[in-house]
Amino acid sequence: MKNVLGLRCVECFKEVPAAAGTYTCPSCGSKGGIMDVVYDYPEINRLTTREQVTNSRDYSMFRYLPFLPIYPESARPHLRVGWSPLYKPPGLGKSLGMSNLYIKDDGQNPTASLKDRASIIAVIKAVEEKAPTVACSSTGNAASSLAGSAAAMGLKSVIFVPSRAPQGKVAQLLIFGATVISVQGSYDDTFRLSAEAIEHYGWYNRNAAINPYLVEGKKTVALEIAEQLNWVVPDWVILSVGDGCTIAGVWKGFRDLYLAGWIDRLPKIAGVQSTGCSPLVDAFLEDRPWQPKAENTIADSIAVGVPRNPDKALNAVRESGGTMVAVADEAILEAMRVLGRTSGIFGEPAGVTGTAGLKVLLEKGVIGADETVVSIVTGNGLKDVQNAIKAVGEPLKVEPSLPELMVKLEGAN
Ligand SMILES: *Cc1c(COP(=O)(O)O)cnc(C)c1O
Ligand SMILES: [Zn+2]
Repeated sequence: MKNVLGLRCVECFKEVPAAAGTYTCPSCGSKGGIMDVVYDYPEINRLTTREQVTNSRDYSMFRYLPFLPIYPESARPHLRVGWSPLYKPPGLGKSLGMSNLYIKDDGQNPTASLKDRASIIAVIKAVEEKAPTVACSSTGNAASSLAGSAAAMGLKSVIFVPSRAPQGKVAQLLIFGATVISVQGSYDDTFRLSAEAIEHYGWYNRNAAINPYLVEGKKTVALEIAEQLNWVVPDWVILSVGDGCTIAGVWKGFRDLYLAGWIDRLPKIAGVQSTGCSPLVDAFLEDRPWQPKAENTIADSIAVGVPRNPDKALNAVRESGGTMVAVADEAILEAMRVLGRTSGIFGEPAGVTGTAGLKVLLEKGVIGADETVVSIVTGNGLKDVQNAIKAVGEPLKVEPSLPELMVKLEGAN
């Protein structure tokens, strides 16, 4: 990989070569020592230019190949990941009183969440390293996306999910042929069991906080946002936070573009959690180290009481001059309704939590109504139909009779 200089520890800043099998810092050990991929920006600019990328007809995240930590000749699955639409929905803008609001709909990836951007890198690296089996623990979406990417690449997958994972996501896992292990416990229990099993069996590890390459896949959402806005950087990017890998990826993407000289400023990053599980928001607002919290939220993808990438996530928010906010589950359900009804966009609870947080930050005056804001919808609503019904209620039930229909329709108005 000519474009990669090495891996740098986020705790002790030691740099090591990006060798197969190196994931965490050899000095800090497996407890801490999450690594960051360090790029050779002049080399990236020798490999490609902003104009070449803008003219590329590869409508996937691989249009940014020189910014990714994979060998250009490595085998890639046929699935089309990335290049999701960036909308400017007028109804939503109007409902929030905003003139420059964009929605990046990442529910439109092959397995219907942003996680596909990371999982596809995981299976590419697994094949580079000749690993036949990939594994991860997940609140649901990393799992279904890894299973889909693995199936596309002809790899086996072993997936650990907490028992509360919504059925839509479990159905995806089984359809994609994964070995599914439903852990009767919290997400933290699930993560720990998967880590032990991965070590024991030697499977390829897709746990995003440990594997430094996955954030690099996630960062492509930021590269796309910049390009889709004609390389004019928005004032804010807002999204939901669980483990913290996605928000770290968004920040890494903008920083890479900035350091390569492709954009001339950086956005502020806002991270949103549910008040039912907000360890990182609390740590940020109270300016103290994070503490574990219970996982009491309908937004299962961000019900993460023990975040696995807290430092990278908090750094992203702080370095960008951004902020964090927690919203109640009721506000998340409202955001599902508003996005659907004003704009035809259907997000799962964690998918719309960023938009729910945007409303609060507008009301508080932290974000101005005339600022340019991109809210990322991180996952599709069909994954979790039960909570969608909770947000909107049941349909009108009528006998096949026009008079009865007329009575019910008038009653509804
Ligand atoms: C995983 C996930 C998130 C949060 O990403 P983290 O890296 O855990 O912070 C948000 N939304 C959806 C839909 C997800 O699947
Ligand atoms: Zn270290």
